[in-house]
Amino acid sequence: MKKILLVNPWIYDFSAYDFGIKPVGLLRIGEFLRRKGAKVDLVDCLEGCSRRKDEYGFSKIRKERIEEPEILKNIERPYFRYGIPIPEFLEKISAFSEIDEIYVTSGMTYWYPGAHLAIKILKERFDKTPVILGGIYATICHKHGRLTSDADVVWKGNYLDEEYFYRNGFYPAYDLLSDKETLPIQLTAGCPFRCTYCASRIFGARFEMKDPVNLFEEVMHYNRAFGTKSFVFYDDALAYKSSEGIKRFLRLVIASGMQFTFHTPNGLHARFIDEELAELFKKTNFKDLRISLETSDEGVQQFTGGKVSNNDLKLALRNLKEAGFAKKDLGVYILMGASYIDMEKTMDDILFINSLGAKAVIASYSPIPGTLDYKVLVKNKIIKENIDPLWHNKTIFSEFLIPSYVRKAREIRRFTSNLNKT
Ligand code: SF4
Repeated sequence: MKKILLVNPWIYDFSAYDFGIKPVGLLRIGEFLRRKGAKVDLVDCLEGCSRRKDEYGFSKIRKERIEEPEILKNIERPYFRYGIPIPEFLEKISAFSEIDEIYVTSGMTYWYPGAHLAIKILKERFDKTPVILGGIYATICHKHGRLTSDADVVWKGNYLDEEYFYRNGFYPAYDLLSDKETLPIQLTAGCPFRCTYCASRIFGARFEMKDPVNLFEEVMHYNRAFGTKSFVFYDDALAYKSSEGIKRFLRLVIASGMQFTFHTPNGLHARFIDEELAELFKKTNFKDLRISLETSDEGVQQFTGGKVSNNDLKLALRNLKEAGFAKKDLGVYILMGASYIDMEKTMDDILFINSLGAKAVIASYSPIPGTLDYKVLVKNKIIKENIDPLWHNKTIFSEFLIPSYVRKAREIRRFTSNLNKT
C-alpha cells in the first residue's frame, strides 16, 4: 500500500486571521489517493493553533516573531511565522518511517517561505521521497516555485479533474483534520466576471455549479460524521444563478429543520441579492454577511469589471434589512490602496456605506500576477514582472508605492472603525 503524506505548511506574514481556512484542495487530493488504495496522513502546521475564537468560531492564530527575509529588511513591522513550533513539526514527521510521496500545498503567494521551509525539512528527513508542491503560490508563481523551492514537482493549476468537484459522495478528507467545528463548502466554482484585480479565472475559466442536492447531502454528511454545524462558503460567485443554485440549497436546509450557520467571507455579488434570497439567508442563519463594492466610484466600477453598481448595493442592502439583518451583520468590502482609487475617495466610500446602514470592511490592495492590473503595473514600469512574491503582500504593497500610504491608511481605518460603531 502506498504511503502518502499531505502537508499544510506555515503562514509567513505580518498579520493573519483564521476565517475558517482549511487546506481543501490538499484534502481532496488525499481523498482521491485514498480511494486508489493509498494510506494517507496529514501534517497540518496550523493544527491546534486557534487562539481566542470569536462567536463565529474564527480566531487568531498562534504565531512566533521571526526575522524578516532580507528583501523586507526596510519594513518596520513585526513579521511572523503562524502555526506550530518547528520542533513540533519535526516530532510529527518523525512518526513516519517511510513515505512514498509527499504533497505540500501553498496559500497566498507571499506565504511561500512557509512552504519552502516545510519542503526543506521534509527533504532532510525523507531524502528519497518525491515532494509535489501545489496550491495557489505554486500555480500563480510557478516559475518562482520551480527555481527556488526544493520540490521535485511544482504543480500548476488544479490537480484533480473538475468531475471531482461535481461527483456526489466525493468529499475532501476532512476526517484528517483535528478541528472540524467549522468546515468549508462550495456550491460553485469560478466566476462569470473578469475583474482586473482578481485571480479567480486563473484557477478555472468557466463558472460551474454542482447540484444543490449534492451539496445538501455533503453538509448532512459532515453533520452526521463530525457534528459540524457551521459552514464557510468558499465560492467566488455564490449568489449567481441563485434560482438554480443557492436558493434550492437553502430551501433544502429549511425543509430539513437543521440549525446550521453559514458564512461568506468571499464577498457576495450585491446584484443577485433579491428579496427572496435575502429572506433565505436570514432563515438559514447566515452570519456577518460580506458584500463586495470595492469603490463607490462608478467609473472605476465599470473599468475594473462592472460586477457591481451603487444601485445594486442599495437594493441588496434594502432587501437584507427588510429580511431582518442589522448593521452589525452587513459588512461591505472597500478596496484601499489601488492606484486607480484615490484614497480621499475611500473616505467617501465609507460614508456612502454608512449612509446605507452597513459596515465598511477595508481590504488592502495588492496585485496578483496574471491579472490585468498586474500586467498594467508592469507595462507602466511601476513594478518589475518578476518582483519577489513577498512584495505581493497586501500589508506592504501600497506602502512600497505610495509614500503617504501608512499615515493615510491609519486615518481611514480609524475613521471606519468609529463610523461602524454608530
Ligand atoms: S466578481 Fe469577484 S470573484 Fe468574480 S472576478 Fe470579480 S472579484 Fe473576482
